[in-house]
Amino acid sequence: MAAPVSQRVDGDRLWRRLRDLARFGATRGGGVCRLALSPEEIGARAALVAWAREIGLQPSVDAAANLFLTLEGREPQLPPLLIGSHIDTQPSGGKYDGAYGVLAALEAAQAITEHPLRPRRSIAVVAWMNEEGSRFAPGMMGSAVFTGKRRLADILAIRDRSGCTVEAALASVLAAERELMRRPLGFPVAGFLEAHIEQGVGLQEAGCTVGVVTGIQGKRTFRVEILGEESHAGTTPRSRRRDALSSAVAVVDALQRAMWDAADTVRFTVGMFDVSPNAPSVVPGRVVFSIDLRHLDADVVAMLGDRIPQLCERARGRCTAAIRERLNEVPLQFPHAMRACIAAAATRLGVSHLQLPSPAGHDARYLHCVCPTGMIFIPCKDGISHNEAEDISEGDATAGARVLAEAAFELANAR
Ligand SMILES: [Zn+2]
Repeated sequence: MAAPVSQRVDGDRLWRRLRDLARFGATRGGGVCRLALSPEEIGARAALVAWAREIGLQPSVDAAANLFLTLEGREPQLPPLLIGSHIDTQPSGGKYDGAYGVLAALEAAQAITEHPLRPRRSIAVVAWMNEEGSRFAPGMMGSAVFTGKRRLADILAIRDRSGCTVEAALASVLAAERELMRRPLGFPVAGFLEAHIEQGVGLQEAGCTVGVVTGIQGKRTFRVEILGEESHAGTTPRSRRRDALSSAVAVVDALQRAMWDAADTVRFTVGMFDVSPNAPSVVPGRVVFSIDLRHLDADVVAMLGDRIPQLCERARGRCTAAIRERLNEVPLQFPHAMRACIAAAATRLGVSHLQLPSPAGHDARYLHCVCPTGMIFIPCKDGISHNEAEDISEGDATAGARVLAEAAFELANAR
């Protein structure tokens, strides 16, 4: 009997590639600025393609610039198993958010190529386009288009701050990769596994090496506009004022009280607050603010989110309040079979593991809608992420890739 594929996972090689990939968009502060579809990302994608070719994986790309590196299975006509994440970063991002998942997947695929038994299904390492949503909002664009959650035509006109459209940026990436095979957008897939840094402290605090992700938190976002009347700060008595700022402060205070929970599991944020005209001697006439509400329990997200319009109405005073919901994503639970497959792989390898949910969104959210999906977390130091100081240990990185390799090999061979 051949040795398990995980024994072929080479931690040094994975660590070296993590260093090498981090050079594309490296910042002075030790982090990475590799925005989606930027020249830095084009360079990093070329490095991935070169590594893939060295080990016999076939690179291909779809119309949304999702990049696939395919290890052909014994029955290549079957839908492939996808494993991967993203390689775009925030403007002051770290070396591991996304990149770890793609390079752990590449390492897993390489380990599998070195096994005497070819997997039954093909395994494609994937780097999804624009997960971060930093240059072009919203994020998870490539996986949304791949899974039919959004239409490609609907994202093409979105612009970055400099006025460049997604359409133009996509064209520059596809021109740089014109020699790659083109794949149709949204082909059938057998399953998806995403490895990722935890971006929280759950694993670190539990002293565990790998997280078997149970699901992803639900999220609702709103935009609230409070309208009052601009007037003179010196001449308008309180009784005649319609001060949009005082109303907005009262509304935010009422919301924060209503969202308070003893268990500290509700995530409620007013992160954007815009006052007009924002002049010292003018009673504010208009305030616009954002609401971001998240929870793991679908009933809680639904119940609290549904209360928001009424809470705003009650606290708005003499001003008017217009509340618009912008996003409503229910919490999701990954299938039990995928979680069990990952947990069993960790157990076989003697890697300590823990079941835990993901508070952050990932491409796995959209893949979950079209195929059995699972996620593997590894610890990241002090939970710091979206930060140049993002850090992981080489041992954890290797352990995560070994668990991924075992789970992927099993799923690709499943009947
Ligand atoms: Zn990420």
